Amino acid sequence: MDTSVSRTLFSHRANQLTSSAIREILKITERPEVISFAGGLPSPEGFPIPELWAAFDRVLSTQGATALQYGRTEGYTPLREWVAQDLSRPGLAVDPEEVLIVSGSQQALDMLGKLFIDQGSPVLVEAPSYLGALQSFSQFQPEYRAVPTDERGLVPEALSDGLVRDARFIYVLPNFQNPTGLTLDRARRQALVERCAAVGLPIIEDDPYGELRYAGEPQPGLLELGRPAGATVIRLGTFSKVLAPGMRLGYVVAPRHIISKLVQIKQATDLHTATVTQMAVYEAVRNGFLREHLPKVRELYRRQCGYMLDALQEYFPADARWTRPEGGMFIWVTLRPSIDTTQLLQAAIQRNVAFVPGAPFYAGADAPSNTLRLSFVTVPEDRIRHGVRTLGELIGPAPAR
Ligand code: PMP
Repeated sequence: MDTSVSRTLFSHRANQLTSSAIREILKITERPEVISFAGGLPSPEGFPIPELWAAFDRVLSTQGATALQYGRTEGYTPLREWVAQDLSRPGLAVDPEEVLIVSGSQQALDMLGKLFIDQGSPVLVEAPSYLGALQSFSQFQPEYRAVPTDERGLVPEALSDGLVRDARFIYVLPNFQNPTGLTLDRARRQALVERCAAVGLPIIEDDPYGELRYAGEPQPGLLELGRPAGATVIRLGTFSKVLAPGMRLGYVVAPRHIISKLVQIKQATDLHTATVTQMAVYEAVRNGFLREHLPKVRELYRRQCGYMLDALQEYFPADARWTRPEGGMFIWVTLRPSIDTTQLLQAAIQRNVAFVPGAPFYAGADAPSNTLRLSFVTVPEDRIRHGVRTLGELIGPAPAR
């Protein structure tokens, strides 16, 4: 192949993008016979189709011309107000001017990359972290610094002077982390925001799953803890997991000077998020619909998680370890060090079972090869049991000591 052609055709930025080998393998998992624990898709059983249909209908029949017109980059004002109110609580007053509506929180990650990262800028990410964020940030060629984690998640004491020096931000998923399913406890949250306030390190708090808690006690968000501590917290939220991801609707909450810059970036990107979608979602949620809807979604996810935990207990070898999520969609498994989960995936696919190996979730750190992520929300119980049993057989029993 003549590579000089692609060099002149595409930018350096585009040329350094690669499609991940894992994604290629996982394409196979779309075959119906494959039991896939690989996807990150929410359960369609949680999609409130009649309510969204009715909301679109009302919006188009009563405010059709506004809904189909261009809108403000910042977002539809009543929806910004709703988000501000939804996040406000005693001790945390969010102003609608601090809210920017985006086309899914994934867009916010891309925009934050544009806002903060120059080539070689140090950025801090948990090891492991959300693959989609790493993909977004990588476009801008940062220098990743991995923040150590343990079985309780990110370790705030590990934020040494050397690690935070010149860093542009730290990207954190405090609730039911993707990929580990771990939740940061209150003491660590507090320690994290205080440390970041002390060294002036902005925090990007990504919380798509916070409303999907089905066990344990809700914890205050980093925005809530960080503001009184003097930390700069940029909080990302989304309607993808509480309504439906196909709406492509999310939001950023941040201090106004950051929102204004993001507005300039968003203007250049797509002018604004779809007006009709913003209006329909506002119409759907404004009268407290989520208060009746979310308990059903939480119950569904709790049940599914239980099926997976029971199956792991029954079929995985005694030396395997896994997380017990308090919410969200993922369980993280650590196998004995001799098992390479990328190879295990090849064998699993031969037997029509799929998962995501853990290595790609690590940026800036030595990736262990014996971890994997299991997603449990879209697979029926009998298939969860069958799939986990197959994986257990492929892993084999713990070696005798
Ligand atoms: N952040 C995390 C941690 C996610 O898991 C996801 C979706 N898988 C996103 C952001 C993106 O969500 P959306 O763009 O649908 O809001």
